[in-house]
Amino acid sequence: MSQQTTEQTIKVGVIGAGGRMGRMLIEAVQNNPKTILNAAIERQGSSLVGADAGEVAAIGRLEVQIVDELEAVINDIDVLIDFSLPDATEKNMQVCAEHNVAMVIGTTGFNEAQEQVLAKASEKIAIVYAGNYSTGVNLSLKLLGMAAKAFGNDADVEIIEAHHKHKIDAPSGTAYMMAEAVAEARGQNLKDVAIYGREGQTGERESGTIGIHAVRGGEIVGDHTVMFIADGEVVEITHRARERMTFAAGAVRAATWVTEQAVGQYDMQDVLGLND
Ligand code: NAP
Repeated sequence: MSQQTTEQTIKVGVIGAGGRMGRMLIEAVQNNPKTILNAAIERQGSSLVGADAGEVAAIGRLEVQIVDELEAVINDIDVLIDFSLPDATEKNMQVCAEHNVAMVIGTTGFNEAQEQVLAKASEKIAIVYAGNYSTGVNLSLKLLGMAAKAFGNDADVEIIEAHHKHKIDAPSGTAYMMAEAVAEARGQNLKDVAIYGREGQTGERESGTIGIHAVRGGEIVGDHTVMFIADGEVVEITHRARERMTFAAGAVRAATWVTEQAVGQYDMQDVLGLND
């Protein structure tokens, strides 16, 4: 696949290039007229090292060889898109910060230390970090804030998410974002009110808590339902992702946006102008 490039074309690197999202991202970068794939990186020891990134993504040769070291290609890119693993992303943030390369991060499951590395890196470079890059989910977050404000503590909130059987963390980053949107709108700290699953003698449901439940199975791309259960009525806000391409296209849109931003940490709501 050949692409016309100009001086304004944004040079993108994709790390975790052979992953479910990595392959989609390679295709999405090539589909976006503003971007071009200039680097693809996998973990050391991966059987994909040396392969052509376009062939791995099943979109035809791109003449971009997959390498196993970010440092080897960091000067060839304007922005790195990282949907890999928290430990890998932690190191990648440090490398990008050292080399002034912007980032779009989709990796979920950060621990507190990794959140701090993110905060530190975003003092040096512009980073978009979002648990979900789809337009629909980010719109849903807005709607959740409205619903939570309207109901206050008159509605019990329960969140149910479902994902494919390969997912290794729970609940999903998106479920956390949804829970946080509700908690924030109600003036709560999520840590104080979240209940993760229930089992045994739980006692009666405490008002103001937010229940969060994870379903795993098959190849479900990502479903989220937030129930506002009031006396006499229930409102449900549901988002269903049909294909991973929706996240990949959103992340590439974020990549075109982040290269024009000042140093700092942003989310997909910023990219979509929903925070204005
Ligand atoms: P995946 O298929 O397991 O892909 C992860 C890829 O990263 C694999 O190819 C893996 O290689 C590679 N990798 C691991 N360590 C690495 C390292 N040190 N350097 C470079 N590459 C490395 O998982 P996925 O389904 O694509 O998901 C990846 C992440 O994105 C997860 O955290 C997931 O929750 C998140 N995600 C976010 C969104 C969003 O919108 N924010 C959407 C979907 C997924 P090996 O397989 O060889 O180990």
